[in-house]
Amino acid sequence: MSRLLSSLYPVSEESTVVTHPFLDLAPLSAAHFASIEDRVARLLDTRQDVVVMQGEALLPLEGAIRGAAGPGTTALNVITGPYGQTFGDWLRDCGATVIDLAVPFHTAVTAAQVREAFAEHPEIDFVSLVHAEAATGNTNPVAAVGEVVREHGALFYLDAVASIGAEPVLPDAWGVDLCVIGAQKAMGGPAGVSAVSVSERAWTRMSANPQAPRRSYLSLLDWKQRWIDGGRTALPHAPAQLEMLALEACVERIETEGLKTVMARHASAAAATRSGASALAGGLEPYVHDAAEAAPVATTLRAPAGVPASELVARALAIDPALPLAAGGGAPAGEMIRVNHYGADATLGAVRGCLAALGAALTGKGLPVDLDAARRATERGRN
Ligand SMILES: *Cc1c(COP(=O)(O)O)cnc(C)c1O
Repeated sequence: MSRLLSSLYPVSEESTVVTHPFLDLAPLSAAHFASIEDRVARLLDTRQDVVVMQGEALLPLEGAIRGAAGPGTTALNVITGPYGQTFGDWLRDCGATVIDLAVPFHTAVTAAQVREAFAEHPEIDFVSLVHAEAATGNTNPVAAVGEVVREHGALFYLDAVASIGAEPVLPDAWGVDLCVIGAQKAMGGPAGVSAVSVSERAWTRMSANPQAPRRSYLSLLDWKQRWIDGGRTALPHAPAQLEMLALEACVERIETEGLKTVMARHASAAAATRSGASALAGGLEPYVHDAAEAAPVATTLRAPAGVPASELVARALAIDPALPLAAGGGAPAGEMIRVNHYGADATLGAVRGCLAALGAALTGKGLPVDLDAARRATERGRN
């Protein structure tokens, strides 16, 4: 063993195996696995079955669509950012008839728009919606949309990956049949594990779908048959124990801080970013026009005309590479700056750091900014 390793990690007398917090973990028991699922269910305030899935959130997002949709499905697919586009592709791939309802990325969908879609296409029996879009910075009115969906008896699928921990996510109260979450945004957890709550109606729909994945890693029905229906006593395969322990730790941390406090931290960071960016000037402005439609998880800003967002972000990150800043991806890439003030970065300090670095980047491009005004506005802006 190298001297460096032995100085970092203690070695026991009898063994030459280096101890390490991530390695040599005991297998996770079925009881422990079930208790983590129960904890996630409490976080969602749901009585539905919660399946913790052994992969990044795309696993339950894709598994739930492929389980519920088929050639007989007419899906209303709401597009408010890049994830909605992906869901439409999966739905078409399943053979579903897809009605896309796309709204400009700087806004949110309204319940009235969903109602109009049902009036035009009463055969809609599935609705897919993204709650908050970290990529575009908007958040959609799920409770109001859920009311419309329930009136028409359609199945309601929700991507709450970016909203969980940053704002209320209430599948039971909102009538969501398939609610997918991931730990990697506001929960401050790992990206390698995710969860989905499944209503009785959703199980019925999947069981009746001959195309639903079975005997597959994508299959939710496998988890029902091999895990839930057996009383959650025997795991179908070895779980990813490192990610499961990390998921448990991040739910525990949220319970300790209090979900309401965690959500308030995100809301404050978002409000401070919006008002601070406007006061900073230099041509920077909030990308989502209406504050009520801006997601608490992350704030998107529009770069000044003629200045590429990627250049401003690169200049800001050169000042401090640890800042939670990114240039937008997808369609609005050239003009969008993302302030990812989520998880441990949902603080006024992180917001101030981002605005100061963006201010310096704008100054470097010859654009006048007012750092003092921005600092005062972040103080006022937070809730
Ligand atoms: C972040 C996010 C996901 C997870 O996808 P990654 O790109 O792997 O982080 C899914 N849905 C939404 C709405 C997200 O914001």
